[in-house]
Amino acid sequence: MAVVINDTCINCGACIDECPVEAIVDEDDNPTGEEIYYVYEDKCVECVGHFDTPACAESCPTEGCIVWGEAKDGMTLHADRADAGTPCIDE
Ligand code: SF4
Ligand code: SF4
Repeated sequence: MAVVINDTCINCGACIDECPVEAIVDEDDNPTGEEIYYVYEDKCVECVGHFDTPACAESCPTEGCIVWGEAKDGMTLHADRADAGTPCIDE
């Protein structure tokens, strides 16, 4: 799938410009209507081919805010990804 931003997001904006494929939108463009940032799963490539670890999670100041999503067929998946719901970065 992709990575997922959870509801601990504080809308700081640190992640959005770090994404190499522009998969992240801010709270104003979140299609779920939640007042947090959002990752489009059809765009996110888990930073494969760009960085060793998800750049958004590296830039995020909120511990555990960006987690691995459900793995689905046809998605670009990081080789070292953990189970869905697990933070992408071990703080
Ligand atoms: S993991 Fe990489 S590609 Fe996916 S949203 Fe984060 S920065 Fe973008
Ligand atoms: S860097 Fe983290 S806290 Fe800041 S907007 Fe992105 S997901 Fe939210």
